[in-house]
Order: sequence, then structure tokens, then C-alpha cells
Amino acid sequence: MRKKKYVLNPDTFQYEPAKLDVKLVLRQAAYCMGLGFSLALGFLGYSAANGYDIEAEQLAEENAELAEQLAERTQEMKTLEASLDKIYKTDNYFFRSLLNVTPVDASVWNAGTGGSRAEFEGLPQELREAYLLQEKVAYKLDVQAESYEEINEVMAYKAEELKHLPAVRPVPGRVLSGFGYRADPFLGYSHFHAGVDFHGRFGDPVVAVGDGKVIAAGYDNLHGAGYGMQVEIDHGYGYVTKYAHLSAVHVKLGDVVPRGKHIGNVGSTGHSTGPHLHYEVIKNGVKVNPLDFFYSE
Ligand SMILES: [Zn+2]
Repeated sequence: MRKKKYVLNPDTFQYEPAKLDVKLVLRQAAYCMGLGFSLALGFLGYSAANGYDIEAEQLAEENAELAEQLAERTQEMKTLEASLDKIYKTDNYFFRSLLNVTPVDASVWNAGTGGSRAEFEGLPQELREAYLLQEKVAYKLDVQAESYEEINEVMAYKAEELKHLPAVRPVPGRVLSGFGYRADPFLGYSHFHAGVDFHGRFGDPVVAVGDGKVIAAGYDNLHGAGYGMQVEIDHGYGYVTKYAHLSAVHVKLGDVVPRGKHIGNVGSTGHSTGPHLHYEVIKNGVKVNPLDFFYSE
């Protein structure tokens, strides 16, 4: 049940039940609204006259400054991206191709990021683009770092392989007879020369062309002893080298030798008309041109 309200009557000094004076309420309401409106107007007038326009001007200036800085940062980010693109190309066309590693595909490189996302809602277009660009640069950095890691691993593996490959000359002398068909002084007709003959004086040192293990050392018991005194080295990775017509052998079967190791001396043993080194490279069981493996002719 609603309680009845009483008010003090100043004339009678009696508490009497309160009557709702609609006119008074309306008058008071109008007064309040009028006061509020006046205050609001006065405030606005004050603001306009005393600094809010100055603040707006300052804000506009700051905004222009920020926009300019944002444009500058964006431009620098674009320069960074261009540098990264250059590194990517060098990586692909030099390092990775040199090491025979599959290149990083352009579709991977340019995947980056893109499109509009929820967190960009309400951001100015310039800021949105700056964020996307920054994400793209960070992404490319990640891809490139991963690529270098992979190259490092391959380098470590290839470095070992390169030490074993027959990539240097066994003697310094010039080539007397190349790989391929030629007239044979013993047979009297053209035959396939399966190696290279290097000029050398009797007793000149012959060196291992790469790291490996000696798998033949001494007189050739096959081929009609045609190779004379010889050394064969297994370099692994499918490569074997043969050094023939030697006058002396300084290694024995099973020796592990490094590149440059003095393994024997130039001679004229076996089917030979004079001191020289007959040198062969056998790749996966097939005799190939040794000159194809030198860094320089
Ligand atoms: Zn020969």
C-alpha cells in the first residue's frame, strides 16, 4: 500500500496531505530545462570564444604531423622490403643454385599477409596498409632466416663432400693426352683413352686429389699389368681415382689419406713409353673425364 505524503502548511503550521500542483511542477520543470539550456549555450559560447578552436587547430596540426610520419615510416618499410627482395634473389640464384638446393618459390616469398581483418576495423586506410606492410616484412625476414638455416646445413654437408671430390690435379704438369679416343702406341690402332696423361719427370711426387681410402696400392695384376705400379683411392660419394705407371708407391691398402697426401712418384711402369702420370676418375663405376672436375684447367 502506498504511503500518503504529508507536507507542512506554513499558514496553519499543520501537516496536511500533499496535493500535486501540476502547474507548479510544470513551471519548475520548465525553469530547470531553461537553466540547463542556458548553461549549455553559455558553455558553448565560452568554448568558442576561449580556446576550443585553438585546440582543434592544434589537433589538426598534430594529425597532419602524425600522418606525415606514418607516410615516412611506410616508405622506409617499403625500402626494407625491397632490400629483402634483393637478398631473396641472391639467395635463390646464387647460393641455393650453387649448392643445388631447391629455390624458395616466389609464391611462398610473396605469400605474406593481406586482406582486411577484424582488428583493422575503424582504422584509417593508411594505418591499415602500414600494419599489413610491417607484417609482410616480418614474414619475409622469417622466410629468409629459415632459408639461411637450410643453406648452413647443406654447406656443412657439402663442405665434407667437397673435401672428398677429385677437384685438384694429382701433378702440376700439362696434359699430354686427354680423355677419349686416340691412337694407341702399343695396339697401333685407335682406342678409348679412359683417363688423362699428365706430363711429369721421373720421381715427381703424385698427390691424392681428395680425401679418401686407399683401395689399391702396388702392381696392377689385372689388365695385363698395363697400369704398372698404381694407387686407387675411394673418395666416397661414388668417386674412385686411379694413378698409374708410378715408379714408387707410398701408401698401403686401407690407408685413409687426405687431399694433397704424397701417395707415389711419377714413373713409366706397365704399358708406358716414358715417364708420365696416367690418371682416371671413376664415377659410380663409369670412367669420366677428370678435367671436368678441376676448379680450373
Ligand atoms: Zn694414359
